[in-house]
Amino acid sequence: MISRDDDVGLYLHVPFCDRRCHFCGFFTRARRDDRVAAFVSDLLAEIQLHGRTNTLRGRTVETLYFGGGTPTTLSSGQLLSILEACRRSFVVDQAAEVSIEANPASVEESFLRALRQGGFNRLSLGAQSFDDAELKAANTPHTAREIVQAVGAARRADFANLNLDLIYGLPGQSLSRWRANLDTAITLAPEHLAFYGLTIEKGTHLHREVEGGRLNLYDEDALADMYQEGRDRLKAAGYLQYEVSNFARSGHVCRHNLGYWTDREWLGVGPSAHSYLDGARFSAVASLEEYHRLVSAGVPPIEEREVGTPDLRLREAVAFGLRTVSGVACTSLRERYCLDPIERFREPIERLVRDGWVVLDGEVLRASDDGLLLADELAVALL
Ligand code: SF4
Repeated sequence: MISRDDDVGLYLHVPFCDRRCHFCGFFTRARRDDRVAAFVSDLLAEIQLHGRTNTLRGRTVETLYFGGGTPTTLSSGQLLSILEACRRSFVVDQAAEVSIEANPASVEESFLRALRQGGFNRLSLGAQSFDDAELKAANTPHTAREIVQAVGAARRADFANLNLDLIYGLPGQSLSRWRANLDTAITLAPEHLAFYGLTIEKGTHLHREVEGGRLNLYDEDALADMYQEGRDRLKAAGYLQYEVSNFARSGHVCRHNLGYWTDREWLGVGPSAHSYLDGARFSAVASLEEYHRLVSAGVPPIEEREVGTPDLRLREAVAFGLRTVSGVACTSLRERYCLDPIERFREPIERLVRDGWVVLDGEVLRASDDGLLLADELAVALL
């Protein structure tokens, strides 16, 4: 058995939003005060359950990430009570990175100040675009003006580690409009920026529009141009790329998200949350009712569980690691899994190196500049 006693991450899923964005495939429900109160009490119960059963075996929680949904649909008091419950139930590092996602329309300075004073130290705003027509077409709950106001409120509330998320390839978005979005984001000077190509998830409004032939999306070449434009503009503005979609000022990489790509384990709590712990991947039920039923009975709300063999885990570690700019350190994987990744994947690695998508630099395997754009395809070649 592979034993691990290193630090872990903690992900907390808050499944409420004020409105459903047309592209969103996450598990989220409309906010209603009675639902929110019941959920907070269930989430506290799940955290305490993990504490009692020592799920983390005393491992130190180095990062906490409140995601969703929109975690800021909860009150500051509710969010701080959840953070406090984590501190009581787990060993949380004094210097832990504590991130929270927020919708720009749902944050005011006093609210953010309360979070900051209570220990949250990183704020991620789901900006998506600075064009009101694009935001409206995507049915987001906020306007461009509210993003700017939220950034100002965050700064006044003393958040010194701020991320903005953007999406490229939104319906009707031109390359010049995408450039303008990037430039506005850069002007706001966040420490961290992430941009993602629009993906069409089953079950979303956009998926229905595409299936019904009512919406045409960009082809891959146009999306690749937008991606390259984003990369060039952020680099020129002094941001360092550290993952396919993630850029940061020096010293501001998101430690929690980096963990997902560097074979670090994490526990997810809340409905639909995924976990990777003690070599197993598992996910929680994606239903508020079922979540309540299980947690109230003192049962972990797990729906699916897969225990990975060393071979599968090695494969995943390489596939995810190729998303990072620094690549995969083969020595540490060899020590962890007693398998040599270069030997194990010799054939696909040789092919990808020959085609220019991957570079093998001594013991480090990494995607080339062009290969980063194809990180999903590289993963498929290995998985
Ligand atoms: S605010 Fe975020 S989580 Fe909520 S529907 Fe929009 S994209 Fe999804």
